[in-house]
Amino acid sequence: MKIAVPKEIKNHEYRVALTPTGARELVARGHQVTVQGGAGEGAGFPDSDYEAAGARLEADVSAVWSDAELILKVKEPQAEEVARLTAGQTLFTYLHLAAEETLTRGLMASGATCIAYETVTDRQGGLPLLAPMSTVAGRMAVQAGAHSLEKAQGGAGVLLPGVPGVAPGKVAVIGGGVVGENAARMALGLGAEVTVLDKSIPRLETLDDRYQGRMKTVFSTADAIDEAVRESDLIIGAVLIPGAAAPKLITRAMLADMKPGSVLVDVAIDQGGCFETSRATTHAEPTYVVDGIVHYCVANMPGAVARTSTQALTNATLPFVMALADKGWQQALADDPHFAAGLNVHDGRITYAAVAEAFGLES
Ligand code: NAD
Repeated sequence: MKIAVPKEIKNHEYRVALTPTGARELVARGHQVTVQGGAGEGAGFPDSDYEAAGARLEADVSAVWSDAELILKVKEPQAEEVARLTAGQTLFTYLHLAAEETLTRGLMASGATCIAYETVTDRQGGLPLLAPMSTVAGRMAVQAGAHSLEKAQGGAGVLLPGVPGVAPGKVAVIGGGVVGENAARMALGLGAEVTVLDKSIPRLETLDDRYQGRMKTVFSTADAIDEAVRESDLIIGAVLIPGAAAPKLITRAMLADMKPGSVLVDVAIDQGGCFETSRATTHAEPTYVVDGIVHYCVANMPGAVARTSTQALTNATLPFVMALADKGWQQALADDPHFAAGLNVHDGRITYAAVAEAFGLES
């Protein structure tokens, strides 16, 4: 199959949809892989590595798109990319269509088959192509929070691990899913005192079991959040209510109960944020201060660690890419109902109920 990997064009997107390692696997199976020149540069993969893996390098973006049967991307296609997409092509990427009507209609008009990373499921009811980025964001959240606690960043001047004779800092993680567990794990590793709040008892049981009581698990109520607000040096917001905006769990009035210079890291900012005072920030200016509390609200945290993120994402996508390339999309999806859940658009129609409902379209 002819597979194309364009360079991502969304602002500040440095990831790439296929590593040289992935290219080598596909070439070994007899596929033709074309990579746009410079596509891997931002993630630390030079063109020469793709060439060594047997991929073709192509400088002309039109040629990259026009000759491909399967197009691999990271971010949703931008307007000029939608215009390049044609009937008969298959696109495999993050799409997040439910919030993007123009993009949805553009993809329908293209006639292409569009499979979204974020709606592929697994046997445990998880989202295996979303989880790697939540893992990255969760782990980064503590790094970002610890840095924000430094005096020069507007923080209280607290070192999370403490030192002999000085107690460690306190970290509360609201939401103990993929992001929350990874954040809590990093905070534990630093030596902080860690509490995880969640509404799901089974989730709290899993965490308690896994970490053998090394982190406190607390059922998430308004009282429990009040206590976390009063006690913590760093609070990480990691809640998700599928299909809904994040609930505002910490209001502006509650900031007055926090210790001055404490830090809020709102990882759920991509769903609107779970703190009332959160507003999306960028890696160029990741933090701001409200009522003496430092806020870190970067909506695409994994972008800052493009190399690790690319490797984590492509490890998860490669088996699906190989199935698409080897069998064609119809057979690959027919063989795996969890992969079939990724199909969002085909032949001018929306094939994913939630997206169709969002825009009053037929699925
Ligand atoms: P997840 O579904 O694995 O976990 C969410 C958890 O929140 C669940 O365990 C759920 O029980 C819990 N929860 C729901 N309501 C709660 C409440 N009121 N109090 C406490 N817990 C509550 O989701 P995830 O993959 O960990 O993602 C969490 C958030 O992080 C999502 O909004 C996701 O979009 C976001 N995210 C952001 C970035 C970024 O770069 N900013 C990157 C990846 C993920």
